[in-house]
Amino acid sequence: MTNNKNILQDSHGRDHAYLRISLIERCNLRCTYCMPEEGVKLSPKSHLMTYEEIYDIAKTFVSHGVTKIRLTGGEPLIRKDIPVILEKLSTLPVELSITSNAVIIDKFIDVLKANGVNKINVSLDSLDATKFKHITRRHEFKKVYDNILLLVQEGFTVKVNAVLMKGFNDNEIIDFINFTKDLPISVRFIEFMPFDGNKWDMSKMVSYAEVMTYVNNAFAESSIERLQDAPNDTSKNYKIKGFKGSFAVISSVTNPFCDSCNRLRLTANGQLKNCLFSSGESDLLTTLRAGKSIEPIIQKAVQAKFKVRGGMDTLKKLQEPKLHTNNRSMITIGG
Ligand code: SAM
Ligand code: SF4
Repeated sequence: MTNNKNILQDSHGRDHAYLRISLIERCNLRCTYCMPEEGVKLSPKSHLMTYEEIYDIAKTFVSHGVTKIRLTGGEPLIRKDIPVILEKLSTLPVELSITSNAVIIDKFIDVLKANGVNKINVSLDSLDATKFKHITRRHEFKKVYDNILLLVQEGFTVKVNAVLMKGFNDNEIIDFINFTKDLPISVRFIEFMPFDGNKWDMSKMVSYAEVMTYVNNAFAESSIERLQDAPNDTSKNYKIKGFKGSFAVISSVTNPFCDSCNRLRLTANGQLKNCLFSSGESDLLTTLRAGKSIEPIIQKAVQAKFKVRGGMDTLKKLQEPKLHTNNRSMITIGG
């Protein structure tokens, strides 16, 4: 046990009530911006958290104020024991949600509902099957598209995440917004971010400002409505008047939202990351397995959190390759 009661408050006064847990390092897609072409070095199975360990670590965070847990990966649904993980975590007093590529989510509708998961984020970077194949290196467009419609029909709250890349899918911004005309979903355009092995460079990124230029050229000013963002929201939310759904931009590169950050991340091999962009990690799993308290390590990691983007507080720093190659590839962080 630690002296400080609020171990999830950092030195900048931010409280962390949101834990994202990556369940697996593998995936059934190969998105170029996420998984390096040459693959990633996978942790041996014995180094990955078991479902009991996931539950034990999550319980500690919840006892210190975490109220939201999102499961991610890799692809969380390809983990064999996902039903048990959901069942265990659903016993905690948290809002439980999941981020998935939705390729096989139709097989999990009942188990998600039974465990109180009703908010699902789905990745879909193109509405064109050929482009989808190009970016994910797999032919699964139809399954993902149909599964988004199925999730909506089944009453889930669905957000669709699209990572924008210049010259690849920026010409689909308006198609994506039109996709929200009859569907009550939120499409979130994500600025392409740098991680190890994803060949990021600033010129490939489509910025928040550029997205809004597309929007302003396509719709009358009076029909574009700026919505109220939720507290700790990472996105700037909008809607076209009369459309059932909405759209948003997640501008981690040009307009970071670090001031209100309330997130911590746990990797599938039990390392705590205090920021998506930080290269530092704190090993919770080894300590847990040694039968010791993980609280002092959590407290130290939270205290060490940088004010902005893991210390990359300027665009210049973000563009220094060494700073992101020290970090993991996104597939092993979890977004
Ligand atoms: N497989 C699941 C999925 O694709 O939704 C969950 C894991 S994925 C790593 C989580 C999120 O990270 C996805 O929405 C994905 O688009 C986003 N992501 C991955 N690499 C990214 C990058 N370089 N820049 C911005 N977003 C990225
Ligand atoms: Fe897999 Fe998601 Fe990464 Fe795509 S973004 S490779 S679906 S983990």
